Amino acid sequence: MHITLVKKRLANGEPCEKCAQTEEMLKRRGYWDRIDDVVWAIEGEPESVGNLLGARHGIKVAPFFVLRDESGVESAVTSPLKLIRDHFAEPPEHAASGTALPVSTARLEDWRAAAAEFANAEPIEILRYALERWGERCPIAFGGAEEIVLIDMATRLGLPFRVVAIDTGRLHAETYAFLDEVRRRYGVMIDAYLPDTATLTRFLRDKGLSSFYRDGHRECCTIRKLAPLGRALAGCEAWVTGRRRDQGPPGRVDLAHFETDPRHRGATGPLVKVNPLAGWSQARLWDYMRANGVPYNPLHDQGFTSIGCEPCTRPTRPDDHPRAGRWWWESEGDRESGAHIGGDGI
Ligand code: SF4
Repeated sequence: MHITLVKKRLANGEPCEKCAQTEEMLKRRGYWDRIDDVVWAIEGEPESVGNLLGARHGIKVAPFFVLRDESGVESAVTSPLKLIRDHFAEPPEHAASGTALPVSTARLEDWRAAAAEFANAEPIEILRYALERWGERCPIAFGGAEEIVLIDMATRLGLPFRVVAIDTGRLHAETYAFLDEVRRRYGVMIDAYLPDTATLTRFLRDKGLSSFYRDGHRECCTIRKLAPLGRALAGCEAWVTGRRRDQGPPGRVDLAHFETDPRHRGATGPLVKVNPLAGWSQARLWDYMRANGVPYNPLHDQGFTSIGCEPCTRPTRPDDHPRAGRWWWESEGDRESGAHIGGDGI
């Protein structure tokens, strides 16, 4: 397959910013070598090569890609994400950022063997194993600072990966804007899962808009978070979370890098939960983010350490537990939505 990238040059000679961002994203994700040539669609010059290609394929925006197969048949794609998803299924060989696995993943078909093997491994090695082992059947569940670090690492690995997010409908405006920023910055599609409309309508009619303050958060979280998460994970074999041991009890102090998920079932049975950051501290996480220029939700600058839904999250003081701002009106030990409850361990 021969792939041509058509970029736009403005009448004043400047390159189009969106085209430059697309090129940068392809380079960052290790796909630039898959582009065979680059041609220009010059504003005001209908005879420029890019404009002629656009006219041939009925495309009026740039950038876009023209694909020509072995028999010379041409097609065009306007979305770089669609190009990656549909045509770059195999990871580029050179895109591993020099990160070598300490062991061959081929002999670790049994993830329990991997769990032992990776007990002291760096997060990126654990993530690499998960993405090589399960691919897009092991999505990264996007929540906050931890998961953006995992998305950053996955991008560096150059392996195909999938990101899912739960849109409860009650997130901060800053969080919605941040999701879009992540999407643009890393060139990833984020599959957002929403609550079931009929169930939510019934719940709100019966209990009102803020029943969590009165009845506790469990029922609302089940409808707005857990049920959509279950749908997001259906058909998967594993999922990646950003949980860390230092986020404290209950259920996190002994957190392993790999565990069975007692709550969610996937295509072939219980899911495997992968927690690459289990051994990292909050300080280590933010060191990584600063060193690598990883974007973060601006709410962190307002004192929010753990960010959930807007009505159920408030800023914390420096000596508070990181999750003290979640459901603060409830008892000390109840700082989980339920997504991670059960035997082994948003
Ligand atoms: Fe509902 Fe609050 Fe849970 Fe969000 S965090 S799902 S608003 S109870």
